[in-house]
Amino acid sequence: MLTVQRASQRNAARRLREVNLQLARWQASRGYASESGSGPYDAVIIGGGPGGYVAAIKAAQLGLKTACIEKRGSLGGTCLNVGCIPSKAMLNNSHLFHQAKHDFKKRGIDADGISLNLTQMLKAKQDSVTGLTKGIETLFKQNKVDYIKGAASFISPTRISVQLNDGGETEIEAKNVIIATGSEVAPFPGGAIEIDEEQIVSSTGALELPKVPEKMVVIGGGIIGLELGSVWSRLGSQVTVVEFLGGIGGVGIDEEISKQFQKSLQKQGLKFMMNTRVVSAEKRDGKVYVKTEAAKGGKEETLEADTVLVSVGRRPYTKGLNLEKIGVEVDPKGRIVIDDQFNTSVQGVKCIGDVTFGPMLAHKAEEEGIAAIEYIKNGHGHVNYHAIPSVVYTHPEVAWVGKTEQELKAAGVQYKTGKFPFAANSRAKTNLDTEGQVKLLVEKETDRVLGVHIMGPNAGEMIAEGVLAVEYGASAEDIARTCHAHPTLSEAFKEAAMAAYDKPIHF
Ligand SMILES: Cc1cc2nc3c(=O)[nH]c(=O)nc-3n(C[C@H](O)[C@H](O)[C@H](O)COP(=O)(O)OP(=O)(O)OC[C@H]3O[C@@H](n4cnc5c(N)ncnc54)[C@H](O)[C@@H]3O)c2cc1C
Repeated sequence: MLTVQRASQRNAARRLREVNLQLARWQASRGYASESGSGPYDAVIIGGGPGGYVAAIKAAQLGLKTACIEKRGSLGGTCLNVGCIPSKAMLNNSHLFHQAKHDFKKRGIDADGISLNLTQMLKAKQDSVTGLTKGIETLFKQNKVDYIKGAASFISPTRISVQLNDGGETEIEAKNVIIATGSEVAPFPGGAIEIDEEQIVSSTGALELPKVPEKMVVIGGGIIGLELGSVWSRLGSQVTVVEFLGGIGGVGIDEEISKQFQKSLQKQGLKFMMNTRVVSAEKRDGKVYVKTEAAKGGKEETLEADTVLVSVGRRPYTKGLNLEKIGVEVDPKGRIVIDDQFNTSVQGVKCIGDVTFGPMLAHKAEEEGIAAIEYIKNGHGHVNYHAIPSVVYTHPEVAWVGKTEQELKAAGVQYKTGKFPFAANSRAKTNLDTEGQVKLLVEKETDRVLGVHIMGPNAGEMIAEGVLAVEYGASAEDIARTCHAHPTLSEAFKEAAMAAYDKPIHF
């Protein structure tokens, strides 16, 4: 009798193990990590972009039981899949191609017969994307973040339904939720131009063009338009940028730098139509005819193009989240409203990144991801919105942090300017790459650095010094008295600081 009982207990235990195993396999097939056990998650992050995935890793590092829900099928969001990374891959490789064709000879490098293999260039870009997105999956595994592949929708502030990418639906419970659903391409205002991602493309389509268009019209002279316009111009396209405003580079660029930047791009062959509005784009006989008029009205023109890039901005993305059901407040621009601790109008639900206020930048989203988790875990976090850098990854690069000269003037701040041209910097001269300058804006009374604006080679790396200066409240003298390695481009930064508080040596 006892033997029979033991045998049936053993059978029941085996069946239970089998059921658990099946469950674990099912979970694994859908991207769940089974070791996290049952019960609600401490933190669930919706969206696996730079805001969301960084928040998820930070949460797990701080000991929170964490899941990240992402519907794209790969991690990294806009940035890694269709934004920062693929655009920088194309910028880097198109720059090398352009240099090889037009710049090598004067450096003593004879490389005749240089030609473009666009298929390989696009593959190299895709390889970078795949390597980096897979890398985040590995980081999730290392940090024990449960990666749930599917589209999230709120049932209540603490309960989320997920339509799994592989089919079916599941529900998860969370003590804290962070919305990090990012942004999407903004359509052309009024719907007058429809993006087909073939002839009329968004940034996503412009990263995949199967052949170099003979003529390209870029609608919008902001960062994305200038970067992608540069890529195709270097590869041989005749690019015309149409911009409604009087200057290029978008919000936050210093006006003096913007003007120099436009001249530099013009020298490279890009054409600009400033103070001009695009009215319509009509597809006919394999071409696109873009109708423009002066921003103030009047002068009309029609441009012929093979490809049109619509880059008029991005807008917050909240589709399918069911925010209305739980009462999360959204402003008229579609941004989720938050307080200074990333709390939405619903308790336990925070929000970060492109889908809320502030510049739509990957590093801003990352900073917020870490800070939001620190608020959950420790009750305090930190993002300094005065010290968020911006970079345009053209050649020369343009980078800035803090206040512009026009902002200081408008606010009536007394300031000094320290400038140093790369034409007087030994490394830039050695590299035959001397376009641009470093410009520091410094408070007159205190010598505190208020803004840094750089146009020049490697400006995007060099701006980190400016960010530190703004973050730590450095004075121009602090920087000027700090030893910088020779010969480096960063000596131009030191000399601009010397120019602001005293005199530079080499200019
Ligand atoms: C061409 C281009 C170039 C760029 N270059 C730069 C650059 O050089 N530097 C820079 O700082 N920024 C750059 N950006 C901007 C940068 O990509 C964004 O600021 C950044 O990706 C925002 O991060 P995020 O985490 O807020 O959102 P996103 O990266 O947009 O990620 C949000 C994720 O949430 C997912 N999601 C949405 N809804 C749901 C849902 N209901 N359920 C599950 N998942 C959901 C989406 O699939 C997406 O993957 C560029 C953008 C573009 C388009």
